[in-house]
Amino acid sequence: MAHDCLFCKIAAGEIPSSKVYEDEDVLAFRDINPVAPVHVLVIPKQHLGSVADLRPEHTELLAKLFAAVQRVAAETGVAETGYRVVTNHGKDSGQQVLHLHLHVLGGRTLGPVA
Ligand code: AMP
Ligand code: ZN
Repeated sequence: MAHDCLFCKIAAGEIPSSKVYEDEDVLAFRDINPVAPVHVLVIPKQHLGSVADLRPEHTELLAKLFAAVQRVAAETGVAETGYRVVTNHGKDSGQQVLHLHLHVLGGRTLGPVA
């Protein structure tokens, strides 16, 4: 586990989360400070800092992350109404947690991106 990484601790069950979906490689849980009626974070259990750390060996993991996004959308009721998937990297994005995560947002009409 990466030293002192919040989402590694959530993935390991050391910090509680409101789980929506879990498998061997991926965890999805509700954002603690939701900005939409549905706001779920999808993370790899292995530590990656952000989308910028993805390499060809992560191809399968990346597919699993997006498969989990689809499961989350179905289980939270936004598969038909629509949703947005966002991930941040670096200073200008405002990334706060340095462990790759996909925000899944839905349940209301979302404004223009950025
Ligand atoms: P980002 O700005 O992309 O790094 O997003 C980090 C997200 O993690 C924010 O939307 C926070 O509300 C969320 N967050 C921070 N701590 C927790 C936590 N303990 N459980 C769930 N979500 C969290
Ligand atoms: Zn981590």
